[in-house]
Amino acid sequence: MQRAALPRAVDVVVVGGGITGLSIAYHLARERRVTRVLVLERSYLCSGASGRNGGGVRAQWSTEANVRLMQESLGMFRQFAREHRIHTWFRQGGYLFLARSRGRADALAASVELQRRCGLATRVLAPREAVALVPQLDPSGIVLATFNPDDAVVFPWPFVWGYAEGARALGVTVCDFVKVTGVDVQAGEVRGVQTSLGPVAAPIVVVACGAHSPEVAAWAGVALPTHPHRHEICASEPLVPFLQPLVACLDDGLYFSQSTRGELVGGVSNPDVPPGDDAGSSVAFLRRYAAALLRACPSLGGVKILRQWAGLYDLSPDGAPIVGPVARPRGLYLCSGFTGHGFMMAPVVGRLLAAAIAGAGGGSLLDRWALSRFERGEAAPEGMIIG
Ligand SMILES: Cc1cc2nc3c(=O)[nH]c(=O)nc-3n(C[C@H](O)[C@H](O)[C@H](O)COP(=O)(O)OP(=O)(O)OC[C@H]3O[C@@H](n4cnc5c(N)ncnc54)[C@H](O)[C@@H]3O)c2cc1C
Repeated sequence: MQRAALPRAVDVVVVGGGITGLSIAYHLARERRVTRVLVLERSYLCSGASGRNGGGVRAQWSTEANVRLMQESLGMFRQFAREHRIHTWFRQGGYLFLARSRGRADALAASVELQRRCGLATRVLAPREAVALVPQLDPSGIVLATFNPDDAVVFPWPFVWGYAEGARALGVTVCDFVKVTGVDVQAGEVRGVQTSLGPVAAPIVVVACGAHSPEVAAWAGVALPTHPHRHEICASEPLVPFLQPLVACLDDGLYFSQSTRGELVGGVSNPDVPPGDDAGSSVAFLRRYAAALLRACPSLGGVKILRQWAGLYDLSPDGAPIVGPVARPRGLYLCSGFTGHGFMMAPVVGRLLAAAIAGAGGGSLLDRWALSRFERGEAAPEGMIIG
């Protein structure tokens, strides 16, 4: 494909060509009230966390707002292949959450009640019922499990490409390998950005740079409380298909699913990783993952790991993202801090933020996720985060 020329003046610049920025741009173009939209990506389109994640998409959350939001996002993921005419490897095998402590079990059971009130088919399972779903599981140490058959796993890249192509078809300019190096602000208002190919004038700039968002927001004088955190993941040799759901344990942060190629794809939380943007791989991760996986499924001990890689989580203090306009400078919008779940939220959050930018509202969600919540001391932690 021929490289798009960099326009010198647009209505909206979206900084970051991950799934978040591209979803915002696509939905802005669909709103049709914003005509000149430019996405700037400093590298290739799947270079950030959006091209490196596990593709888990779930509606099992512990707050009503997140459950309802993710119900809508799941629907958008389901429709994506038809809407964008691209294969997405959407596999609706459900999510099986395991609880290994009484406190975690009580919290999961309470969240199931909430999810059922919202219309989800989630149910609480005794350990032997979890083993009926995944016979390789060792039931010892599991207090209870929860299962929503409608949760899913996808292959991430087609969503990034699909939004990019869909946005381009609607008139958005998507420029990869163009780095934003500054944000121009005058008299308390955004005026545009500086880039590796020169300036671009724009009254609205959206910061959707994932773990690099604090650096870009700082150029506009805005301090973000988020920070990058390396998260590692790996894929095994292909195995005969045996695993339907994605299995996740909030006690140790283990998660694994089986891809359509038969690979076990999984990771585990690692609080020992120092903050920073090093996205290298480590043997320490493999040891930690192997220990957690074998505790869950001892019979998987002989499985070989073929590939491992890492990406950056954009950790926010309460695990919830930071989305919406800032008070000053006018014209600056944020969409970052998605921790380990920004991929699944991107379709619906992109739609809501695009509506807000186009002046068509964005709902109470954007109040809940405003940056100013930290100053007001209103942070509301969500319990079901694989951090
Ligand atoms: C290993 C791993 C597993 C994960 N698993 C899941 C999962 O199962 N489900 C889920 O929902 N989420 C998961 N996540 C989280 C999810 O991937 C992210 O929350 C999401 O992809 C964030 O998307 P984004 O577009 O905001 O950021 P990114 O995809 O990181 O995109 C930001 C882009 O901004 C660009 N950029 C940065 N600075 C500049 C600049 N100055 N100028 C121009 N461009 C710039 C970067 O190059 C990058 O491409 C996982 C993350 C990792 C790392």
